[in-house]
Amino acid sequence: MSSEAPRWSGRDDGLYTGRFPLAVEGYPMRRVEELLPGVTTVTPHARYYSLHAYVATAVSTHKDLNPVDTLRRCEVVFGAISIQHARRFPDQHRGMSQAHGHDIISASMRDGELNVSALAASGSYAQASRGFLGPYLASERLLGLITSGGELMAPGPKSDERGLKLAFEGLLDLAKMDSIPCSILEGYSSLCLCGQHALERSWLRSIMFPSQLLEDVATHSRRTQTALMLCRLIEMYEPDNLSLELSRKLIADSRTYGDDQLRHLEILPAWRGVVLRRWYTWAWRDLWRWLVNEQMTGAVPIAQLQRALSEHLPDQKLSSFRKELPEGVEAGRLVDAEYAPAIDSLKTGPKNLAWLMIGAGRVGQLSDHVAPYFESTERERRNYELTPSWLRDFLNQRNDHSVRDVAFELTGVLLARSQRVAMSKSSFTNGRWRVPTRLTVRDGYAFRESNEGGGPVSLRWDQLTQVMSGLGMVRRVAGDTRGAAERWTLTRNGRDQ
Ligand SMILES: [Zn+2]
Repeated sequence: MSSEAPRWSGRDDGLYTGRFPLAVEGYPMRRVEELLPGVTTVTPHARYYSLHAYVATAVSTHKDLNPVDTLRRCEVVFGAISIQHARRFPDQHRGMSQAHGHDIISASMRDGELNVSALAASGSYAQASRGFLGPYLASERLLGLITSGGELMAPGPKSDERGLKLAFEGLLDLAKMDSIPCSILEGYSSLCLCGQHALERSWLRSIMFPSQLLEDVATHSRRTQTALMLCRLIEMYEPDNLSLELSRKLIADSRTYGDDQLRHLEILPAWRGVVLRRWYTWAWRDLWRWLVNEQMTGAVPIAQLQRALSEHLPDQKLSSFRKELPEGVEAGRLVDAEYAPAIDSLKTGPKNLAWLMIGAGRVGQLSDHVAPYFESTERERRNYELTPSWLRDFLNQRNDHSVRDVAFELTGVLLARSQRVAMSKSSFTNGRWRVPTRLTVRDGYAFRESNEGGGPVSLRWDQLTQVMSGLGMVRRVAGDTRGAAERWTLTRNGRDQ
């Protein structure tokens, strides 16, 4: 499931929980969408793109087929083949997430039989009536693989009917069966989502990452450039934890500034801006999580909660506290100061505060190509509070105050803001006023309704890497006995891209 999509979980007491308690995620999330259109946090599998394109051609050719039922049956069979192949060849699936509907489909395969009609019935392998088309739909339309039309969808302008028919040969016949012995499915590994034997691989690669500039230059070139950037970074660093490691390299490793291939990608500075804002936003989210999850036991007087952060800070002036922090930009050069040992050794709350101050310290210091992706006072004027510029001004006006007093005040700002955000998202549903919050302030006390999530917003690099893995451009290899970690590597296909 997505780590960033808005989602509310229903609860009986009229409170339901929001996933964006401070509403600080919007700016970096929009910039990620801009730089990586067509790949989202819920579309990790390249082969579902072509599977849906194939189903669109099949239902438009065979008018006798019920489109929704055909889609569901195809997804069930495709999922079952993938589950079986992943069991037999886990190496070929390393780093790829499970087939959609994995848990339900695999549980039903235990007796050696795939009951297609029962699984494809409504409410079974997928809750949504259109199966797993929903999350992919916008991306597949953007790529021209499918288009709206017919009862469900129609082949898009980039579709390749003949190629898809060959690539998914046999799938439709299997999908029409009500029950299939699992042993028969083993002969269809060419239909597996890992794409090891997928005939349409290079075709789909050329659609997702066109190297020629096509009519929709802006959109295509951004996605292609991002893919080229990741491929090169994977080749250079062979990371285990992709987002974490490559973020730091992109900011602070001089090799990413001098590399011949990376230097020509205009998208690089933009991603640097997004990475820096992601770190900044991450700190707000983790600070809030720390306050709610760790500093609250039962009902807590607001003043006590406001003191929680202060109590972990030294008794000194804000100006001297700020001076002791490492700089996020040194002589025009970006530094990953957030990971400096002095910062890394701090306890959670103070560490989050330090990250925020380092982030705010970059305001006005970034190059013209990086800065707009870090923040925009123009585009964020309606949600200015807690932006890097807002925090810099807030701190500058309080340099003579004690850092403890500033933390006290800042926590008060967060508490008030969380309640405003929750109220603005509340609605009257099913005869009940619903407020999405995990923390409620009432009569001078704060109550925790449930735990906060924290964590960073997604760069979608991990999903893009999974998609590229399905396209044979990168591969996740096992660690070895000499201590090398499991890691991503570039394949020949990726190098030629
Ligand atoms: Zn496979």
